[in-house]
Amino acid sequence: MGCDVNRAQRITVLGATGSIGLSTLDVIARHPERYQVFALSGYSRIDELLALCVRHRPAFAVVPSAEAAARLRDGLAAAGCATEVLEGEAGLCQVASASEVDAVMAAIVGAAGLRSTLAAVEAGKKVLLANKEALVMSGALFMDAVRRSGSVLLPIDSEHNAIFQCMPGDFARGLGNVGVRRILLTASGGPFRDTPAAELLNVTPEQACAHPNWSMGRKISVDSASMLNKGLELIEACWLFDAKPSQVEVVVHPQSVIHSLVDYIDGSVLAQLGNPDMRTPISNALAWPERIDSGVAPLDLFAIARLDFQAPDEQRFPCLRLARQAAEAGNSAPAVLNAANEVAVEAFLQRRIRFPEIASMIEQVLDQEPVVSLPTLEAVFAADQRARELSREWLRRHGR
Ligand code: NDP
Ligand code: MG
Repeated sequence: MGCDVNRAQRITVLGATGSIGLSTLDVIARHPERYQVFALSGYSRIDELLALCVRHRPAFAVVPSAEAAARLRDGLAAAGCATEVLEGEAGLCQVASASEVDAVMAAIVGAAGLRSTLAAVEAGKKVLLANKEALVMSGALFMDAVRRSGSVLLPIDSEHNAIFQCMPGDFARGLGNVGVRRILLTASGGPFRDTPAAELLNVTPEQACAHPNWSMGRKISVDSASMLNKGLELIEACWLFDAKPSQVEVVVHPQSVIHSLVDYIDGSVLAQLGNPDMRTPISNALAWPERIDSGVAPLDLFAIARLDFQAPDEQRFPCLRLARQAAEAGNSAPAVLNAANEVAVEAFLQRRIRFPEIASMIEQVLDQEPVVSLPTLEAVFAADQRARELSREWLRRHGR
């Protein structure tokens, strides 16, 4: 990191207008002596991005199009804010890799975040990884780039941040060499944890997005409802901690107080607990290896009173089974799973398909698309595009 230990760290927040982006800015604003915003990005919420620029005064803001850039520039001029506006993927990669930047929060949702997240990794930045889809799509390339560049990769996903906190400092030597038997990945079970299979046919996007414990963006909320999110997290855990899929067990824990656990060969099981508020893992990663105040209330164990655990139901939640199969197949299978899911979730949110059809669509696309190795980023995007095309074909075939 920077050699001047006394200056504030400069942070780029990709996906600043989203749920993780806003929580990140909340933490940053609590510590102006430690952190300074270097760049922010938004996509559709340009007025919100303008307000964030006025509040945090970044050097750069990135938007997707010339039209959005013109609108943002007008607003910035009217507010007397000197932020420079950049456009498109090139702009995202520029602010992710700029030499002035110390850390990058990668919080764009979906495959759209892959190039800019990788740009931050390749530039050797400290990367706070929320965009799990990037790692799922291109795990081998991504982790190779981390090793080559010396980038410090810190997980933001609450489960992976919990696992990171429960692992010994030298876990990169291999789980077997540091006495870890397995990782216990907790899942809330989402809003449909106890919904009978027959009723899942008629659930709405609003119900799917009403998560009982966490407030999140719409895509990850639907993923949590289908438990595909836990499947993506299983793949994410394999890459981050160099684990085999068989070393990661999913445990349904409805209260979302334990964020995951690490099981050691001597019988010790270490867990990380906390209120379900993303500002805790964000603060942990921002300040690592130090600790800072996150604004999260202290955990009240007496109010929580009990912690429950149950096995996941892969009959009602086939997405979890499909993701485990993709994790075991490796190569292009996780990228195909991810792309089919992105198309399916969008179609579900637009009410073009029913909730259980998310899994049907992913399963058929996985069956149709051969598993191939993905040695380059071009190969990753080609697999992603083929899977999206097969998913759109599925929609056409079913008249949607
Ligand atoms: P949101 O939908 O709330 O935010 C997504 C962000 O990405 C917004 O800033 C959005 O801009 C931007 N964006 C959307 N599409 C594009 C695109 N095509 N190109 C560039 N930018 C784009 O999502 P979340 O904050 O909930 O999630 C972000 C990531 O973090 C996801 O990968 C998710 O899986 C992960 N994550 C989230 C958690 C949570 O608690 N929310 C927990 C763990 C992981 P705009 O809003 O302006 O359109
Ligand atoms: Mg999570």
